[in-house]
Amino acid sequence: MARVAVIGAGFVGLSAAYWLMRDGHQVHLFEPHGAAGGASFGNAGTFANYACIPVNNPSVFRDLPRYLFSAQSPLRVRWPHLPMLAPWLVRFLWASTPDRYTATATALSQLLAHAQSGYDALLAEADLQHFVRPQECLYLYSSAAAFEGARDTLQLRRHLGIASDILDADAIASLEPQLSPIFHRGALFKGSWHLSDPAAFLHALLAYLQRKGLALHPLAVTRVQADAQEVRLLGPEHDSVYDHLALCAGVHSKTLAAQCGDDVPLQAERGYHLMFPGSTSLISRPVGWAERGFYMTPMAQGLRVAGTVELAGLGPDMHPGLLELLNFASHRALPALGAPQAPWLGFRPTLPDGLPVLGRSRDSARVVYAFGHQHIGLTLGGLSGRLVADLVGDRPSALPLNALRAQRF
Ligand SMILES: Cc1cc2nc3c(=O)[nH]c(=O)nc-3n(C[C@H](O)[C@H](O)[C@H](O)COP(=O)(O)OP(=O)(O)OC[C@H]3O[C@@H](n4cnc5c(N)ncnc54)[C@H](O)[C@@H]3O)c2cc1C
Repeated sequence: MARVAVIGAGFVGLSAAYWLMRDGHQVHLFEPHGAAGGASFGNAGTFANYACIPVNNPSVFRDLPRYLFSAQSPLRVRWPHLPMLAPWLVRFLWASTPDRYTATATALSQLLAHAQSGYDALLAEADLQHFVRPQECLYLYSSAAAFEGARDTLQLRRHLGIASDILDADAIASLEPQLSPIFHRGALFKGSWHLSDPAAFLHALLAYLQRKGLALHPLAVTRVQADAQEVRLLGPEHDSVYDHLALCAGVHSKTLAAQCGDDVPLQAERGYHLMFPGSTSLISRPVGWAERGFYMTPMAQGLRVAGTVELAGLGPDMHPGLLELLNFASHRALPALGAPQAPWLGFRPTLPDGLPVLGRSRDSARVVYAFGHQHIGLTLGGLSGRLVADLVGDRPSALPLNALRAQRF
């Protein structure tokens, strides 16, 4: 069995470590921030097996003026960052044409159809089932126009095999009586679930893997040198050699992939959350408000309101307007909410065509990439880890990966 290094302890890296160890490999995990130090910490916690519609769908063209100039928009661009963002934005918009978007949605739906298979064994063996809450996710539309505007995407989902029940206002009220009576229609997605605490889930998974022999190196990797024989990882305080590498560093994968011969247009889709302690039982399931671009998810520590998309690079400064928007809109949906705490900013790793990168590097077949999971890295983390293990083990992959290669750009 091989010595395999994994970079990153988010949903993707820890799942890769699990599946690699299951194959008998000796796994060395590099992560300076412990489990869930990146985007995986503060997400909405949904296993969103229905989320095959990328942000850059054809409605982006229709809605672009609102997105860019309205104070109510859940999607923002910070203008001083525009020169840096422009090449990515052009590709992002280019991928929004009907044909390209349909191809992306189809490819994502194929991954999502197998997403559960990435978690079944992991949940059972690591004894993490108690983090899983089976209540299905509800996606809401607050006007007839908004629902009509989403009809195409709902139809495409159905065509791609994603099952949902459409609820009217009465059915929404009887399912979630604390919601304001402002919602016209909702979609309840079959087979979706959520985690009670995504960060605690990953801490527990890491602890399990360490008990099974995983070596955790609390170090950042700054340099990767890979050839046909081996992979060398370097940092300010370390220098070590492995048989294979799984690069799962989320949005930070770009720099390391460049050292392996691949210039990937990876960009951060910044997203925010607010916690409402004590509001845990106002709703029984994740509730998304489509036009407002956020979810409300009951979690162990309170109700988490998470979402919005901001394009502004990797700086740590939060956008007060977007946090205020989350606060305002969530109170509009759930009037009994209390006062928010603990604002959080995370960086979704997103490629302009909306698909992740899963495959080998250009320079060395010993380097396997798994990053770029945009809004669905929790959902696809388990499956991605399984596919990483297939690639490292040189087995035929459980799914076709050609469209996901880094070299597609
Ligand atoms: C507001 C919000 C809500 C979301 N809601 C959902 C949801 O409900 N469902 C869903 O499926 N997805 C959701 N997502 C998306 C999901 O959180 C991400 O896709 C996912 O966390 C990405 O996981 P990852 O493992 O690829 O990256 P990360 O979680 O970012 O992990 C990467 C890790 O790599 C480490 N690292 C980086 N560079 C180095 C280096 N040089 N050396 C060593 N380690 C390094 C980092 O410290 C980090 O811990 C949401 C995201 C946001 C922001």
